[in-house]
Amino acid sequence: MSMTFAMIKPDAVRAGNAGNIIQRINDSGFTIRAMKLIHMTRPIAEGFYAVHKDRPFFGELVEFMTSGPTVVLALEKENAQQAWRDLMGPTDSTKAPKGTIRGDFGTSMGENASHGSDSDENAKIELSYFFNATEFC
Ligand code: GDP
Repeated sequence: MSMTFAMIKPDAVRAGNAGNIIQRINDSGFTIRAMKLIHMTRPIAEGFYAVHKDRPFFGELVEFMTSGPTVVLALEKENAQQAWRDLMGPTDSTKAPKGTIRGDFGTSMGENASHGSDSDENAKIELSYFFNATEFC
């Protein structure tokens, strides 16, 4: 079993889709080990996406991620990192297949409803960015 870091982004929370996405997480066999609703400050969002700081969309991304509450989660499953990326679908919601989270709940490249770590190594870093050891069940 392994754990990955997931987010239900502000667009999906705002649209009332957090419940639907959590249902899909349960139905797909993940165990939720930690979960909370947070409203990211600018420094928290900038720190989380620091790897993208020189990209042209960085300002827009930080604006979006601070625009409302986000659900952050620790998800456990066999090969959780890849399994969650598969369930989310590709980054661009307009190209994500129906039946994926981004295909069904995202609306664009930026507003794509969800986040998932891109490697096991980054999953550990991202989990510890948002959760203390005492917050895992
Ligand atoms: P991910 O790993 O699939 O989330 O994709 P990336 O690591 O490449 O990008 C991180 C996040 O930045 C994406 O999930 C999008 O929300 C956002 N993003 C990526 N490319 C663009 C873009 O061209 N425009 C905007 N506005 N946001 C983008």
